[in-house]
Amino acid sequence: MNSKPNGQFQRGVGPGSRFSLWYVLAAIGLMLVAQNALFARPFEQVSYSDFKADLRAGRIAEVRIGTQVIRGTLHMPDDASEMTPPLRFMTARVEDPDLVKELEAYEVKYTGQNDNNLLKTILSWVLPLGLLFLLWSFLARRLGPGQGVMNFGKSRARIYAERETGNTFADVAGADEAKEELQEIIDFLRNPQKYTNLGGRIPKGVLLVGPPGTGKTLLSRAVAGEASVPFFSLSGSDFVEMFVGVGAARVRDLFKQAQEKAPCIVFIDELDAVGKARGINPIQQNDEREQTLNQLLGEMDGFDPRKGVIILGATNRPEILDPALMRAGRFDRQVAVGRPDLQGRLDILRLHGQKVRLATDVDLQVIAARTPGMVGSDLASVINEAALLAARYNRDAVTMDELDKAIDRIMAGPEKKSRIMAPAEKQRVAYHESGHALVAEALPSADPVRKVTIIPHGVAALGYTQQLPTQDRYLYTKDELLDRITVMLGGRAAEEVVFSDTSTGAQDDLQRASEMARRMVTEFGMSEHLGPYTVERGRQPMFLDAGQQTPKSCSEATARRIDNEAREMVERMYDRARRLLETHRSKLETLAQYLLKHEVIDQATLAVVLGDLRPRARPELANL
Ligand code: ADP
Ligand code: MG
Ligand code: ZN
Repeated sequence: MNSKPNGQFQRGVGPGSRFSLWYVLAAIGLMLVAQNALFARPFEQVSYSDFKADLRAGRIAEVRIGTQVIRGTLHMPDDASEMTPPLRFMTARVEDPDLVKELEAYEVKYTGQNDNNLLKTILSWVLPLGLLFLLWSFLARRLGPGQGVMNFGKSRARIYAERETGNTFADVAGADEAKEELQEIIDFLRNPQKYTNLGGRIPKGVLLVGPPGTGKTLLSRAVAGEASVPFFSLSGSDFVEMFVGVGAARVRDLFKQAQEKAPCIVFIDELDAVGKARGINPIQQNDEREQTLNQLLGEMDGFDPRKGVIILGATNRPEILDPALMRAGRFDRQVAVGRPDLQGRLDILRLHGQKVRLATDVDLQVIAARTPGMVGSDLASVINEAALLAARYNRDAVTMDELDKAIDRIMAGPEKKSRIMAPAEKQRVAYHESGHALVAEALPSADPVRKVTIIPHGVAALGYTQQLPTQDRYLYTKDELLDRITVMLGGRAAEEVVFSDTSTGAQDDLQRASEMARRMVTEFGMSEHLGPYTVERGRQPMFLDAGQQTPKSCSEATARRIDNEAREMVERMYDRARRLLETHRSKLETLAQYLLKHEVIDQATLAVVLGDLRPRARPELANL
């Protein structure tokens, strides 16, 4: 999806570096051998008195007297053959002033010797050092060029220049508004004179803002393709380097190259990685990032837009960007790239569907309706996944069946049919999921259930209940949110109703329900006691799925009230779910038994099993 090359993980795995491991091993072996030859002592250790006795017996031929030890050779016995090596001995030297006299008396050849043998000293130092060096160079090679300590100053040429991106607007579906806004940039790049002659101020930077996978990178490349200008790109995470100064140097390089090639596009992906507001966290400072950001701001101010360099940036977290980036003359224009609506999803599916062979029964309209909330990259994956499945089943075209499975896969991870569940666990999961489904079907505004399965999916899910919104949603009312929370709690409530105890399987449900309740209190002003007063939370994630929490600023007392309100809300909705399940206890039973037998139930069968539970009004909320 993201075509960001990751060179550094590839380096150092080739055969060359494996050989240098052999060098190291060989060096170790060599050293062991050398040590044996040099430091091994094929001398017989004898006591000083034995030595003196030998001396007096005239058995000693020759001695070398060192400062610490005396080494010597014995006379060869008369019956020894030519081949036997002379017997050598050594003994510790003792204070013995008459030794020399005695040696002379017995006509022993003697020499003085310095124990601190030069060769030995050198070897004992040089060998380990040499070994260390070998190891170091081996490691340096493994890390690859640019990672070793010697190369830290150089900026790795990680700027990607492309003469032609090969993408056009035809590759981007369902982002008509963004395309329209970018059209002006394309016109300008095609014909800068026209604009500069009129003296208008040309935009310098355009920031594409939208959730991940909505096609921001693709759009930027398409802009370059449409205008037929070179495309320089760099990802924000590339800037954030270990060594201070490298990121800034790269920015400088990038702008220098770009200005030489104008008109062109400079694209900075994941701008938030480098453009995080400065000083947002005083403890965790990042000088490197700050330097890079300053360099970027400087470069943006420094160049003349009339030359025809347009900077495109992309981010999914505009709220954390340094405000300085958005000032006039920098990224002063923003283009929203949102999640595609029904028509947009259909267009994207059609575009990607062209790349695979779809069976005649495939109705992409149905697929588009079934995938609200999915972004371009998800939809591309659905098509691709379906094609892979079709290939696995040896089909000659992709059918609805594979597309259906692919959606489930993208939503919940692949089916894990092989994961065996103990019968008791399976039963619990069946009731849990039935609980979700029944509550969803019994509430006035919850989204209808499309499918329930107790086949394990993905890494953690033991089963799931898939609801399908009847339309794209941009707003939710309080009642609708309360219904959602109730559905989330339905699984655990069912466990309690049926088994009178609970399990760990509801952890995720509880977490999501609590989070939703908290947001209703703190952000949407939907609590009874705090009312429409919302707690200021500073820089908020713009997209619901961003998942980052910013510290909130409110008094202790308010924080406690928030906790109480949110807890009360969750408890009330849990009670509501339990009462609903108790009311429809027999239906819960039927559904769970069906699931235990068939593992999956679809919308139509569910309607038969449950009948019509949905009330026309909302009587039960009123008396909560
Ligand atoms: P972003 O940069 O917003 O995270 P990308 O541009 O990297 O998203 O999109 C990833 C992939 O998803 C693209 O390569 C493309 O295959 C697909 N895709 C995303 N949005 C669209 C779209 N609007 N039309 C067609 N394909 C899309
Ligand atoms: Mg991207
Ligand atoms: Zn659940």
